[in-house]
Amino acid sequence: MPAPKEFKWAGKLKGWKELAEISPGAIVPDVPTSPEYLTGDWRSERPIWNEGRCTHCLLCWLYCPEDAILLEITEKTVKMIGIDYDYCKGCGICVRACPPKVHALEMVPEEG
Ligand code: SF4
Ligand code: SF4
Repeated sequence: MPAPKEFKWAGKLKGWKELAEISPGAIVPDVPTSPEYLTGDWRSERPIWNEGRCTHCLLCWLYCPEDAILLEITEKTVKMIGIDYDYCKGCGICVRACPPKVHALEMVPEEG
């Protein structure tokens, strides 16, 4: 059965092997590039950490999409020691992850 009129273009498309001859693909000269992108620039609110309330459960670290929760790792302990504001984009996920009874993180408006 012939192809419907609206699909005539399909016969002119290149196959995947021919596409490889046309374009070698993207070239990424330096990797990784993500450290160069300071996602902290996006922030309109910032999480504030109350160290005295923190139980170091690390739920905030587990859920932070930017790996912006700073840890101190020793042979026997792993502790939260702060927030890397160069990369914290202010999404507030850490505040949601922090157990409500602990409430060691809260969002405040970004200044400036
Ligand atoms: S606000 Fe978002 S990006 Fe910033 S530390 Fe919390 S979870 Fe990470
Ligand atoms: S989730 Fe809250 S209590 Fe747990 S490590 Fe983070 S700030 Fe501390």
